[in-house]
Amino acid sequence: MLIAGNWKMYKGPAETREFCALLRARLDGFEGADVIVCPPFVSLHDALGILAVTEIGVFAQNSHWAKEGPYTGEVSPRMLKEMGVGGTVVAHSERRQLFGESDESAALRIEGSLDAGLHVIACVGETQGEREAGETEMVIRRQVEAIKTVVENDNLERLAIAYEPVWAIGTGHTATPDQAEQAHELIKRLLDVPVLYGGSVKPENAAELLSQPNVDGALVGGASLEVESFAAICEASVRS
Ligand code: PEP
Repeated sequence: MLIAGNWKMYKGPAETREFCALLRARLDGFEGADVIVCPPFVSLHDALGILAVTEIGVFAQNSHWAKEGPYTGEVSPRMLKEMGVGGTVVAHSERRQLFGESDESAALRIEGSLDAGLHVIACVGETQGEREAGETEMVIRRQVEAIKTVVENDNLERLAIAYEPVWAIGTGHTATPDQAEQAHELIKRLLDVPVLYGGSVKPENAAELLSQPNVDGALVGGASLEVESFAAICEASVRS
């Protein structure tokens, strides 16, 4: 089981230090799930410093594909690796919807990140309109097939997919356990890697979602911003 907290564009370095110190104390002795936080780039250094003595991992929220180059405003996977960052989220739906991330650019980022030795959580998921048009399976297939083009046997173990239906992200509308299970089952048939569910996961709904046979963890946005709710989700993952 893997529980990852996507902080989005919240928590600068000072807030990160405070949060990580509290999380470290709150999850002291916790076992049963791998726990990861994904702070903004500028807060990675502080998170790494405070969590270094723990099992809690630190991932970035995005990474460029090139080792270096004329890409103003971007951060390379090699730079993240040098910092001690364990991995990165790629192709979050907010990147796909607001910043022009395509299946092709997502594949490049995944390839570059895996090549640099990072772990990757690659996000897929349909929009509300796509679900209503009966296109959920087609969209998931297309997104996962694009990921498959850059994955190789020797880096497969560093890849996880997050199924994040866009209509469930930050909306309070969670997928039903059945909807999540169906999508996860499809993804795993296409590519046999751990599949996390993301989309309004909260302490109240985590156990039921995480108890589905093909749900291997959660990518948590809003509820990962408070120590208590994030820790409660981590604990719920062990009971499910
Ligand atoms: C996310 O940002 O990946 C996410 C799933 O957000 P939320 O939990 O707030 O829906």
